[in-house]
Amino acid sequence: DRAVLVYSNMIRRFFKGTMKKIVISGIESSLRRITHYDYWTNKLRKPILFDAKADILSYGMGEMSMLELANALKNGEDWKNIKGLCYLSKEMKEDYLSLPSHSECLVDKDKFIEAFHTFYLNCDPITAKGLYQKCDDRYLIQNPPSEIYSEEIMDKIYSMEFARDVHPYYKKMGTVRALDTIKYSVTTHRGCYGECNFCAIAIHQGRTIMSRSQKSIVDEVKNIAETPKFHGNISDVGGPTANMYGLECKKKLKLGACPDRRCLYPKKCPHLQVNHNNQVELLKKLKKIPNIKKIFIASGIRYDMILDDNKCGQMYLKEIIKDHISGQMKIAPEHTEDKILGLMGKDGKSCLNEFKNQFYKINNDLGKKQFLTYYLIAAHPGCKDKDMMDLKRYASQELRVNPEQVQIFTPTPSTYSTLMYYTEKDPFTNQKLFVEKDNGKKQKQKDIVTEKRKK
Ligand code: SF4
Repeated sequence: DRAVLVYSNMIRRFFKGTMKKIVISGIESSLRRITHYDYWTNKLRKPILFDAKADILSYGMGEMSMLELANALKNGEDWKNIKGLCYLSKEMKEDYLSLPSHSECLVDKDKFIEAFHTFYLNCDPITAKGLYQKCDDRYLIQNPPSEIYSEEIMDKIYSMEFARDVHPYYKKMGTVRALDTIKYSVTTHRGCYGECNFCAIAIHQGRTIMSRSQKSIVDEVKNIAETPKFHGNISDVGGPTANMYGLECKKKLKLGACPDRRCLYPKKCPHLQVNHNNQVELLKKLKKIPNIKKIFIASGIRYDMILDDNKCGQMYLKEIIKDHISGQMKIAPEHTEDKILGLMGKDGKSCLNEFKNQFYKINNDLGKKQFLTYYLIAAHPGCKDKDMMDLKRYASQELRVNPEQVQIFTPTPSTYSTLMYYTEKDPFTNQKLFVEKDNGKKQKQKDIVTEKRKK
């Protein structure tokens, strides 16, 4: 638990005198970089740099800022303006935006909401300003995020010689099951413009899709296919959302993500042109590689984008159903009730129904017997027993399933849903919000959906 704090403390203790700077990074540091809600202690915590015995925090995916930082440290140059870094300072930065201080957030939930809005709106590599937040007698300084990585940079990163194995130290201790799903999994892109309110991807990887070239992905799969112990299955080809590969809004790439609207919610923005042709082409190339038996798509798929693509959506869906799933396709509507979906920042159930019909029709046409599995969330802020009963009714009557994949909402640091959970307010309307906080009652919400019908 709290790996960043534990490791940085140990490094500080055992490498006294030899170590110059400790740099923390990765998802834990990234999501805890300003004042944040911590579910374990049910409290707001300080920006993590105040608790970890570290000097610098690199947020986001971080390759380029780490390279620049390493060079600057090696050459004895000033590193304090490198993008994608946070550090502590006795002084604020005049040209940066001020967030409500940590102590203001502690006593006033509206100040915490204000801090989060400003933080969220300053994550875009093109438009973001630097930020600072006072905590005790110092300031957390957050430089603007790293630039959008070009296809060339993405290809370079993924052409490095990753070992695809556990560290020899752990290998001696036995099998690491967690490796099974990632050993032969291939990343096609980063980022997500779905912006579901419970998800931290937009904060960590950004709203802008950064994709690899088809050639780079094909080369990686060829390399895997030649490894001696490879059995022929690629467990996933995708990213945060599989079918966003290569699809980005031109306006966003030039001017940055819109601060006042979302790309897919409440309806897909007309500036986002969705065409799955490129993805179908890629999958067809991957299938032909010698030694490949099956390429799975295990990453989530936005079915609303498939429906929106009049030209190639059907072709893509058919390709997936025919060759890239095995028995079942997992989709994540998360809920079916409009009020809760609105709080989650997700589209309504009409789209779900249409997709379901198309999925079963294509399976029927192909003579396949495959099923949809639905991922759902119980006890999201705003959700009451009645909403789960309505979900259950919809699932039984319309979807004709008894959902099993239901998870209880867990507040992750730095998401809008977590902000709702802590403040018990809708941060977009400032209205009070019911939030189920009792563990037994959260479980009850889940049980309403998962319990089998009595005979
Ligand atoms: S114009 Fe539309 S698709 Fe482009 S960034 Fe803005 S909301 Fe997203």
